[in-house]
Amino acid sequence: MNFIDLKRQYGLIKDQVQSGINAVLDHGMYIMGPEIAQLEKQLAEYVGVKHCIVCSSGTDALFMPMMAWGIGPGDAVFTTPFTFIATAEVISLVGATPVFVDVDDKTYNIDPSKLEEAIVKVKAEGKLNPKAIIPVDLFGLPADYDSIEAIAKKHNLLVLEDGAQGFGGSKNGRKACSWGDVAATSFFPAKPLGCYGDGGAIFTNDDEMKKLLLSIRVHGQGDDRYDNVRIGINGRLDSIQAAILIAKMSIFEEEIKQRNVVAKKYIKALSSKVVTPFVPEGYESCWAQFCVLAKDTAHRTELQAKLKDKGVPTAVYYPKPLHRQDAFSGLGHKFGDFPVTDALSERIFALPMHPYLTDEEIELIASVIE
Ligand SMILES: *Cc1c(COP(=O)(O)O)cnc(C)c1O
Repeated sequence: MNFIDLKRQYGLIKDQVQSGINAVLDHGMYIMGPEIAQLEKQLAEYVGVKHCIVCSSGTDALFMPMMAWGIGPGDAVFTTPFTFIATAEVISLVGATPVFVDVDDKTYNIDPSKLEEAIVKVKAEGKLNPKAIIPVDLFGLPADYDSIEAIAKKHNLLVLEDGAQGFGGSKNGRKACSWGDVAATSFFPAKPLGCYGDGGAIFTNDDEMKKLLLSIRVHGQGDDRYDNVRIGINGRLDSIQAAILIAKMSIFEEEIKQRNVVAKKYIKALSSKVVTPFVPEGYESCWAQFCVLAKDTAHRTELQAKLKDKGVPTAVYYPKPLHRQDAFSGLGHKFGDFPVTDALSERIFALPMHPYLTDEEIELIASVIE
């Protein structure tokens, strides 16, 4: 059994993928070919925002808006410690300071009440300037943007949605990557919409922001390639990856539906044995991961070993939250500083999740856990 079955997916779209790649090989515009604009238009329409700027990775999709906003040394950016390193890495990359905020114990997304406490505390201390919030749509579930955006407005902060795992999710019909001032996603192969290499995209309704991001994407270019008006990066997406994503978009909505069918079956089969994911009213997850909680670390180790014996791969997201990573040791955090996150890291593990998981596979996993 595969943790994520990209081969089964490829079987369905093989012809489209190959003709898309061949078209790029024939026209020869390997960088910034016509597929780029086509994909950007398609993704912006899908999400329901004005502009999409595709780029080299999910990390760069987070990094470029931080650069565009001019966030830097002395600035505080609030985010969760229960996420992938890239979310907080981009804060440090621009020289700002990540301020971690614990997550909600049901959704595992940033806890709005703790967020406001953290903002008030940083303001009272007066050492850092609060500038932005990076909420994460963890495991595919959109964060609580109604609360987060109200807090951001009250304290005059920017919001950057980290939708790297969230693309395809929604709340009351509004799609993920449409929240905040800017949103970012990733097309790393294992994400809900993945290409066959690295890729990412940025979404915004702000015309000025779009212009800045287009410039930053190509070394801060001005009127032409050899006119550089700001510091940027090489943040482009390859035409071949865009062609692959265009092919994958043709089955993406159906895949999101199928992921939700799989998740429902898992929840029905497992909810009396382990803690299964909570999806609040009105929300739809895109199920980037399906994570459950064992009773404790020993129980998790036992379940993972038994599943492995039956050929079922599992993974732990995240065994070491960001506040306990050596990379952030300068912040001086320790185990227990973010109690919900620390408790989750000891109990959580992920089961295989993809749209093509069969009933037999789900039944096998359920029987082992039982
Ligand atoms: C994967 C991921 C990223 C980074 O995306 P890359 O394309 O791998 O650079 C950022 N944030 C979160 C939450 C992710 O899961």
